[in-house]
Amino acid sequence: MTTNGVLPDEPHKTFDTILTLDFGSVALCTRKMPQKRYTHLITRRLRELNVYSEMLPCTQKLADLSWKPKGIILSGGPYSVYEEGAPHVDPAMFELGVPILGICYGLQEIAWHHGKNVVAGTEREYGHADLQAKRFNGHVDKLFHGLEDDLKVWMSHGDKLGALPPSFHIIATTKNAPFAGIAHETKPLYGIQFHPEVTHTPRGIKLLENFAVGICQAKQDWTMDKFLDKEVARIRALVGEKGQVLGAVSGGVDSTVAAKLMHEAIGDRFHAVLVDNGCMRLNECEQVKKTLTEHLGINLTVVDASDLFLDGLKGITDNPEAKRKFIGSTFIDVFEAEALKIEKAAANSPKAGKIEWFLQGTLYPDVIESISFKGPSATIKTHHNVGGLPERMMNGQGLKLIEPLRELFKDEVREMGRKLGIPHELVMRHPFPGPGIAIRVLGEVTREQVAIARKADYIFIEEIKAAGLYDQISQAFAALLPVRAVGVMGDKRVHQQVISLRAVCTTDFMTANIFRFDWDFLERVSTRIVNEVDGVCRVEYDLTSKPPGTIEME
Ligand code: GLN
Repeated sequence: MTTNGVLPDEPHKTFDTILTLDFGSVALCTRKMPQKRYTHLITRRLRELNVYSEMLPCTQKLADLSWKPKGIILSGGPYSVYEEGAPHVDPAMFELGVPILGICYGLQEIAWHHGKNVVAGTEREYGHADLQAKRFNGHVDKLFHGLEDDLKVWMSHGDKLGALPPSFHIIATTKNAPFAGIAHETKPLYGIQFHPEVTHTPRGIKLLENFAVGICQAKQDWTMDKFLDKEVARIRALVGEKGQVLGAVSGGVDSTVAAKLMHEAIGDRFHAVLVDNGCMRLNECEQVKKTLTEHLGINLTVVDASDLFLDGLKGITDNPEAKRKFIGSTFIDVFEAEALKIEKAAANSPKAGKIEWFLQGTLYPDVIESISFKGPSATIKTHHNVGGLPERMMNGQGLKLIEPLRELFKDEVREMGRKLGIPHELVMRHPFPGPGIAIRVLGEVTREQVAIARKADYIFIEEIKAAGLYDQISQAFAALLPVRAVGVMGDKRVHQQVISLRAVCTTDFMTANIFRFDWDFLERVSTRIVNEVDGVCRVEYDLTSKPPGTIEME
C-alpha cells in the first residue's frame, strides 16, 4: 500500500518554500502541558503572507530532503539545548547556504551550534516585553525593517545565551534580554528570543515577512487559484485518462471540497458514496444529496443503512468506545459492499476503467501531527490513515490513496471550497463526527432517542443561525442525557428527559472554551425545545471547557 498520496510535483517543488523545522513547536507551553501545542503557527503565518511553507521534524536529515528550501526556520521547543538527549538540527543544514532564522529554542540551537554557550537563566521570562531594534548607521537590521519603533513581543523561555556566539552581533534587545535578536556578521543566520508567530506579538507577521520575502527572497505566489490549477493538473496526471476514484462523503467541509475537486479534475470518474447511518441530523441526508448532486454535479450514491446501524446499536448502554467501534466497522462493511457494486458497474461500462484510487480528505494538521517531533525518546510515526479504510480494502483490492488536501490547513480548504463554488453555508459548516448523533445520545441509542436529540439540535442550530452567531462558534450541538427529571407541564407533573446544549470556540480543536451566549438567547432556545420536543422537560447548558471536557459528549 502506498502510505501517502504523494503526487507528481508536490507544492514544495512548484512554490518557493520555507522549511520550518519543528522542535516540539510549542510557543507558549511547558513540558507539563504538551497538549497546548502551537505546532502550526509559523507555517500558517507564512502562508497568510502567500509564502508556501512546510513543516518537518527537527530531526530531518538534509541528505533525505529531495527539494531545496528558500530558507529555514528553527522553531521553539520545550527542551534545553544543553540537556542530554535534547534534539539538535542536522549540522548540514547550516552548510546549505540558505538563510536560517531561529526562534527561541531555535536561537539557542544556533548559539549551541556556534560555541555551546547556552545556560539556564536565573529567572524565567514569560510574557510581554518591549523590543528595541538596534540601529547601525541609523538603520535597523533587515529583519526589523518597518519595525523600528515600539515592537511589543512575547517571550517564553527559561534559558538564555551565556554570551554572544563568535562572529555574531546583537540586532535587538529588551530590558531583560540582551540577546533578544542576533545575526551573523557574514552569513544569513538570525536568531530571536521572542515568538513572532503568536498574536501576542502583534507585528510579528511583519518580521516573518522580512525574513521570508526580504531575506530569503521567497516569491509570494502561494495563492489558492494557483494551487487549484496545479492540483487539478496533478490529479489528472496521476489518475490518468481512464482511472477511477472512489470516496466517502459525509456532507462535511473536507469531504465535500475534496469531492468537488475530484469532480473538477476527472468528472464522473469520481464516485462519491454517502452512507446514511441513521444518526445524521434532521433532513441532513436529503440536503447533502441535493447539494452534491444538483448544485455541485458530483456523481453520488446514497446508501440507506440506517436499520443496520440502529439495530446494531441496541443494547450498547454504557460504552462509548463500543458505540464508536461498532459504527466505524459497520461503516466499512457497508462502504465496501457498495464499492464492489460500483466497481462492477464501472468495469462493465464502455468507458471502463478499474477503480484504483481511494480519496481521503486528510489535512495538513493530520500530516504534521503524525510526523511531528514527540521528544527524544519517541519514535516518529509514519502517517496513519486518518479515518481510513482497512488493509483488506487497500491491499486486498489494491486501492491506492489519493489525498489532494494533505498540504492544506482548514482555512485553506474553506478558501478552496469557495473558489470551487461550494455554498457559504457548507463551507462554514461546523464539524460533525462520523458516529453522528449516536455519540450525542448518551447511553443506549434508539430510534426514539435519536429523534429527540435530532429535533432539539435542529432548534438550537436554527436559533444560533437566526441570531447571526453560527460563524462565531466552532461547534455547537444538543445532546440527550440518559436521565429523567421532574417538571410541571400543563399543570401536570411529568418525568421526562434532559437536553444538554454545548457550544465551543476553538482554533485547533485541541483546546476549547465555551461560547458565552446571553441569557435571553439560552432561555429562548430552552423554551422552544421544551415546547416543541416531546419527551423533554428540561434544558441545560454545558459549561465545561476542553480540557477537561472533550468537545463531543462520548
Ligand atoms: N526550552 C527553552 C527555554 O526555556 C526554549 C523555550 C521555547 O522555545 N519557547 O528557554
